[in-house]
Amino acid sequence: MEAFDYAKPKTLSEALQLAEEANGDALLLAGGTDVIVQLREGRKSCKLLIDIKAIDEVNEISCNGEGLTLGSAVPAYLIKSNKDICAGYPGLIDAIALIGGTQIQGRASVGGNICNSSPAADTTPALIAHRATCVIAGPNGTREVAAQDFCVSPGKNVLQKGEILLSIKVPPQPANGGAHYLRFIPRNEMDIAVVGVGACIELDKSGKNFVSGRFAVGAVAPTPLFVPEAGEALAGQPVNDETIEKVCAATKAAAKPITDMRGSAAQRIHLTGVLTKRAINKALERARQ
Ligand SMILES: Cc1cc2nc3c(=O)[nH]c(=O)nc-3n(C[C@H](O)[C@H](O)[C@H](O)COP(=O)(O)OP(=O)(O)OC[C@H]3O[C@@H](n4cnc5c(N)ncnc54)[C@H](O)[C@@H]3O)c2cc1C
Repeated sequence: MEAFDYAKPKTLSEALQLAEEANGDALLLAGGTDVIVQLREGRKSCKLLIDIKAIDEVNEISCNGEGLTLGSAVPAYLIKSNKDICAGYPGLIDAIALIGGTQIQGRASVGGNICNSSPAADTTPALIAHRATCVIAGPNGTREVAAQDFCVSPGKNVLQKGEILLSIKVPPQPANGGAHYLRFIPRNEMDIAVVGVGACIELDKSGKNFVSGRFAVGAVAPTPLFVPEAGEALAGQPVNDETIEKVCAATKAAAKPITDMRGSAAQRIHLTGVLTKRAINKALERARQ
């Protein structure tokens, strides 16, 4: 590992100033479960590592009728232990609960997960399905980017030099809504998704018809992928096997996976359909509870 300086600013403006002065040669540290490994293995380098955990804004957790605001550095264990978030955002909790194990969840943040921008990141498809927005602070103020537009290629995202992901905002779920995220891995835990699917659905009052749905798939394209065609396939349709099959066909059609040591492209496309069906069925169960 190459030597670098370490700074732990206490305010956002201090952090932004440090990032600006570093002129692109700084990396941010939230939980460090990705970045420390990458620095140690020489996959990333920097002159300055800016630890953001002492900044109030990135530690915010607020969950009420207006929606959820998750500071970018809030660790997974704090999110999982918040009853309001568990009740209101089950699809997101499914994804967070899958990250690593207990030790990793003591540090890992949702902000770090999306900023690392792995195609297989578990929380990103769930954020997309839940209509999340990323709030970004930079030298010229703040801007917002929809979660589905945040990642642009493996390991790359829309953050410009000197910008920091401040928080992630998620709107409230509709009254007859349900959500789920699940993934396929070859082992029981501590592995990277071969395929992941996030689903949020809304039913009408009878519970017999879909009102709307949002679907996102992970590990089957260079970035986690929003699949609007899947939502269109179920909007206004009855809840039955035929509708669900159309949604599965849409996510499979959107998947453009590669073949690698974790799975072939054909297996990933097949799994996309299987997991989409399971995600819908679990989301339906939750919507009807
Ligand atoms: C053993 C192990 C198991 C794992 N299992 C999983 C898993 O099952 N699923 C999964 O998805 N991931 C997994 N990971 C990867 C990692 O834990 C997650 O991606 C985690 O959410 C990263 O969060 P972090 O806070 O540790 O990020 P960090 O490592 O601190 O940061 C990650 C990247 O984002 C940047 N960054 C962090 N915060 C910000 C910010 N606010 N603004 C701008 N850039 C920022 C950093 O500079 C870095 O490039 C695992 C890692 C390990 C070591």
